[in-house]
Amino acid sequence: RGNSTVGETAKLLHKDASEVIKKLIALGVMATINQELDIETILLLAGEFGVEVEVKIAVEDDRFETIEEVDEEADLLERPPVVTIMGHVDHGKTTLLDAIRSTNVSSGEAGGITQHIGAYQVEINSKKITFLDTPGHEAFTAMRARGAQLTDITIIVVAADDGVMPQTVEAVSHAKAAGLPIIVAVNKIDKPDADPDRVKQELTEHGLVPEEWGGDTIFVNVSAKQKIGLEGLLEMILLVAEVNEYKANPNKRARGLVIEAELDKSRGPVARVLVQHGTLKVGDAFVAGNCFGRIRAMVSDKGRRLKEAGPSTPVEITGLTEVPKAGDPFMVFEDERKARSIAEKRAITQRQSDLGVNTRVTLDDLFQHI
Ligand code: GDP
Ligand code: MG
Repeated sequence: RGNSTVGETAKLLHKDASEVIKKLIALGVMATINQELDIETILLLAGEFGVEVEVKIAVEDDRFETIEEVDEEADLLERPPVVTIMGHVDHGKTTLLDAIRSTNVSSGEAGGITQHIGAYQVEINSKKITFLDTPGHEAFTAMRARGAQLTDITIIVVAADDGVMPQTVEAVSHAKAAGLPIIVAVNKIDKPDADPDRVKQELTEHGLVPEEWGGDTIFVNVSAKQKIGLEGLLEMILLVAEVNEYKANPNKRARGLVIEAELDKSRGPVARVLVQHGTLKVGDAFVAGNCFGRIRAMVSDKGRRLKEAGPSTPVEITGLTEVPKAGDPFMVFEDERKARSIAEKRAITQRQSDLGVNTRVTLDDLFQHI
């Protein structure tokens, strides 16, 4: 089967064609009911509608893309929440991430050499939490623009001595636009001029009303520097996770997103990825963006070699032929031949769109612009 039409896609997503067309227009795509959509657009739509879809590859065909709904309720198992920390510069994001990580490492992982792989996991009350520690909002924004959701919960850090600042407001609106639950970490409460109530007051004006004031936003007072209140913060994250029941099917081919990637002098292309669905295994053939490969080795944030990585697990992988981009989706395929052919097709599409070429443009059109 080839690509799906708008009408077929609507059926697949259990939506009316008119809803799909409206959504496409909102995304800047003018479409009619019989128009074919490419796989990226279908995935984007699925993301917009919050519907789970899986890409299936037809064997012989060059136009390999078909799509199928998956995951029976019974196949979905609890997975760790994925958490991002956002907030104004200097309000303590990095310090908080380091504090949470080091507190947790010293408790259970004595001797482990931590690796910076763009994300890490901590364990509390025998439940795991995955924190993204990629700097800046760019990857986050890029992923959202594609309809890819990387995080489940946002922690917004506000320094209690400084209060709500422009990037705090920006973070709140990002999180709200993404429909993410927000937990406010009121940081630097060790400072003499800390005024946590002022932070609550100011955030109330932005729609985040503390529970004790009759709202539904969780506020936790912390000091990242003095490691005060961290356990309470982690417990609140678990509480939000419990309410939202984050789940995934670990028993299928892996799919997820590239968090960071680089060319390592000795190891070649290295990508740090977050597994979102399925289980990633050493030896798996996969595509990441326009690149393909076969997993040669996987390393955890604790510096351990892994054979498998399930949902919400961040891992560093080697075995790629090229360096993918942060935010690129990755997906495991049944063999390397398929992975390669998909990566090649994507690379061509990419080159075309880089050149501003749209498939309907003729050579004559092109030369007119030169
Ligand atoms: P980021 O820009 O949000 O990542 O902020 P940083 O984590 O780099 O912190 C900015 C400054 O605030 C650094 O000098 C930190 O040591 C300091 N800082 C962070 N958290 C606390 C805290 O809880 N108490 C105090 N007193 N200082 C803090
Ligand atoms: Mg920082």
